[in-house]
Amino acid sequence: QAGPNDLQTKADRLVQMSICASLARKFPKVTIIGEEELPNGDVSEDLIEDGHCEEILKKPCPTQYTGIKEEELVIWVDPLDGTKEYTEGLLDHVTVLIGIAYGGKAIAGVINQPYYNYEAGANAVLGRTIWGVLGMGAFGFQLTEAPAGKHIVVTTRSHSSALVNECITALNPDHVIRVGGAGNKIIQLIEGKASAYVFASPGCKKWDTCAPEAILHAVGGKITDIRGNSFQYNKEVKHMNSAGVLATLRNYDYYASRIPNTVKESLVP
Ligand code: AMP
Ligand code: MG
Ligand code: MG
Repeated sequence: QAGPNDLQTKADRLVQMSICASLARKFPKVTIIGEEELPNGDVSEDLIEDGHCEEILKKPCPTQYTGIKEEELVIWVDPLDGTKEYTEGLLDHVTVLIGIAYGGKAIAGVINQPYYNYEAGANAVLGRTIWGVLGMGAFGFQLTEAPAGKHIVVTTRSHSSALVNECITALNPDHVIRVGGAGNKIIQLIEGKASAYVFASPGCKKWDTCAPEAILHAVGGKITDIRGNSFQYNKEVKHMNSAGVLATLRNYDYYASRIPNTVKESLVP
């Protein structure tokens, strides 16, 4: 499955083993779906994480989730999002994504950015964790609005196509930012660097969008495919987001209404 457009490194494999084995040990009834296909077998004990986050446990659980059973949850794991950029040394494009779905909806997510601040000097704290729960909010970053009246589109850096570019041109943006990673692009939205994430192509998968969706929705944003359909995250769902991605923190309708019908018709969900 891996190819020049779909790389897999030792880091992708080890991180997935660590996250999935640790979650499975603590929550044996949860369904966990990771990006990488790995051989079955025992995971080395030093990859098992059994700690927990006090900060999260201190917050009250939104009442609509207090009755959830473990077996009703699906966890989508992208151990390393932005692998292409990682192999090119663009380390701050890399994120680790863990998204939690219930009833087919993304309800909670973690975006860890292991190399955040890597160019900020030895005194800066390396790495950060952004997390959010629907009905609770999102934490670990400063929610910032994009510049008012400017249309700044963020899109793929390494998976462009004629259709991807046609769609962006039709939006007539003031500026286009090309960076790697779905997690990283959602960070651009919630930190006010970009006003819309637009990707008119298949390629992005459920593990790329589940955690970002939960965090974006927790702060009032919106993410759909290019045709305006919401994503489903139940365990039976097709992994590929075949009809692309459209996400904003604000003004979703402005962008959705400007996607050309020819682009929508080229992408079949
Ligand atoms: P990008 O914006 O190019 O970083 O893509 C976001 C996520 O979707 C990453 O996990 C990519 O690996 C994945 N992706 C997007 N397009 C493709 C593609 N054409 N082939 C394989 N993976 C893709
Ligand atoms: Mg990914
Ligand atoms: Mg990945």
